[in-house]
Order: sequence, then structure tokens, then C-alpha cells
Amino acid sequence: MFSLEFHGLWQEVCERPEPPLSSPEFGSGGPLDAALAAQARLRKLEQFGGAVFPVSPLYVTSVCKERCTYCNYRAGSTDPDLKRVRLSGADLEREVRFLVEERGLRAVELVYASDPLITADDICRHVELTARILARCGRPVVGLSAEPVTAADYRRLRDAGLTFSVVWMETYDPERYRELHPGRQTKADFFWRLESYERMLEAGLEGVGYGVLSGLAGWRRDWSMLAAHQRWLRRRCGRGPNILGIPRLRPAPGAPYDPGAFLPSDAVFRSLVAWHNALFPDVMPFVSTREPFETCLQLAAGGGCLFTLNCSTVPGGYTLDHRGAQFRTGDYDAPVFTPRLRAAGLEPDWAWRGATCYTGSV
Ligand code: SF4
Repeated sequence: MFSLEFHGLWQEVCERPEPPLSSPEFGSGGPLDAALAAQARLRKLEQFGGAVFPVSPLYVTSVCKERCTYCNYRAGSTDPDLKRVRLSGADLEREVRFLVEERGLRAVELVYASDPLITADDICRHVELTARILARCGRPVVGLSAEPVTAADYRRLRDAGLTFSVVWMETYDPERYRELHPGRQTKADFFWRLESYERMLEAGLEGVGYGVLSGLAGWRRDWSMLAAHQRWLRRRCGRGPNILGIPRLRPAPGAPYDPGAFLPSDAVFRSLVAWHNALFPDVMPFVSTREPFETCLQLAAGGGCLFTLNCSTVPGGYTLDHRGAQFRTGDYDAPVFTPRLRAAGLEPDWAWRGATCYTGSV
């Protein structure tokens, strides 16, 4: 169990972060950053040839029992415009059909706040429904972003048609984690979350995503810890996560948290992703609409990443005219933005045929 070795590894990265991250040159826009960017692009091109894997998030519920201090959907959110929504089966079907039939997506990520009334059985049904609709157009790719579950539930989700599951660790800093996740709900349990990666891998999911929310804690330690965690899982489980979440904190109107000095600059952020790409080119960053489109293109250099097109962070945001947001995003409409991807040398692989989820090359 990773939790048994966690404190020793954490101590190590606190004393000695991964060498390039502790260099004063890192993120300065100088030769070190240029070398990392060039190396990352080359290694990605070698493996993926510029292919990117389009995906859209589909929020199923914004009802949440947790109190994460940085999130607009937290219980106790002070956002006057926030309307809590939980989709019905018919609503979910309408939203999936919109993305598939009207926007051409072939990969959909189901996203859940920690809704006390949604069970693993419900999520299995949602996965089955989504996979069924996607299968009309070829191989379905169904993702999940939700509170971690048991290995047995991950196996049931896999059998229902789940392709990949992502859990962002938020931060590996246990003290910061405690401050940011007050209360006694599930998310307050740091180690239940930390060990979810072993459970997802054990359940045999094709895609497993890890990552931190940059802006919550010191990026040198958090990103060094990602590399330590990846290596540990490869040794222990024979494979590690093959998806890297790269969310960077955006302001949330109903949450008190201010990232202050923790938020990495654009240059630091780009170099962190490049460094991880150079180190683990088979791991696919999940490029998110939290970033401007030009930044997304830079983060996707060489391909080999999930690329978010069309994005609403409100349940029913595509077809039900529900407004509001978990955080501010761009909405890069697939038909409009696909030519811009191609112009940047990136080729959308809609059915994810070349993704490491399918080739098993992790
Ligand atoms: S981050 Fe997730 S669990 Fe935390 S308050 Fe927001 S929706 Fe709920």
C-alpha cells in the first residue's frame, strides 16, 4: 500500500524536489524551459505522431456534501447564482446524444459532485447508457470523474463499459490537504483518496488518471510527488496512471480560497507539463478548457493528450439551458476548433485508437 511508504517519500521530496524543478532557471523562460519543451515535444511525437484524443465532460450532478474550500459546488457555497441540479436518466440521454450526434464527440467523461443520493449502481447505469449511445458510432470511450470507490465497484463500472477513471489528488501535502478539505466526509480521508489509484489499477481499468490541482500547494513538492507516485505504482502494480490531470485553479465565486503565491505562472505551468511529458511520454495529459485555447495548443505539443472540446461544468449545460459553473472555462466547440487543432499540427483521433488506454503500452 502506498500509504505505508508515503511519509518517507514525502519527506524526501520536501528535502530534495526533482532536480529541474528546484533550479532557479525552471519556469524563467530561459534555456532550461526551451530544452524541456523541445524534448517533451519530440518524445510525444515519437509515440503519438501529433494525435490528440478529444473528450467532453458531462456533469451529472452539482449536489455536493463536501466543503472543499476552493470549489463553487461546495456545501455552503455563497454563490447566489448557483442552482443545484441532478440529471434524470432522460436528461442524461439528451446531453450524451447532443455531444455525440450534434458535436461529433466519441468520448464522454461523466462528472459527479459528491452527491449523497447517487450510488455506485446509479453510476453503473449512467455508464451503460452512455456507452450504448456512443457504441452506435463505433468504439465507445466513457470516462468518470467522481469520488473514489472500492476496487469491487471499479470492477463493476469496468464491466458496465467504463474506459477510464480520473481522481485528482488535489495536493500531496497532507497538512494543506487537511486545511482545504474540512469536515468528516469522505474527501477528508487523504489516504482513501491516495490509495484509489491502486484500486483502479487492480480493477483493470484501461485508463487511470492522476494529478494535482495546481494552485493549492507548493508545485515543486506536488509535482515531484507525482513522479514518485508514478514510479512507485509502476514498480508495485506493473503499470501506473496513463492520464495526467493538469487542472490549474480558477476563481470560484462561492468559495473562500485564494491561491495567492501557490498559483504557478504560465511559464512554470507549461514547464511542469513538459517535464512530466519528457519523463513519462506514455502518460497523456488531460488538457482542459480552464486554459485559453492558445495555451491548450502549447500544452498539447506533439500530441498524446486528451483534449477537451465543448465544455459545460453545469449539469444540463448542453441542452437544458442550465446556467452557472463550477469554475470558469472556455467552450471550444468541436466543429469550430477542430480546424485550429489541425493548423497547429495536431490530428484529432476521435475514437482514441492510438491512445495508451488501448495500446496497453503503459
Ligand atoms: S471539488 Fe468536488 S467534492 Fe469538492 S466541493 Fe467541489 S464538487 Fe464537491
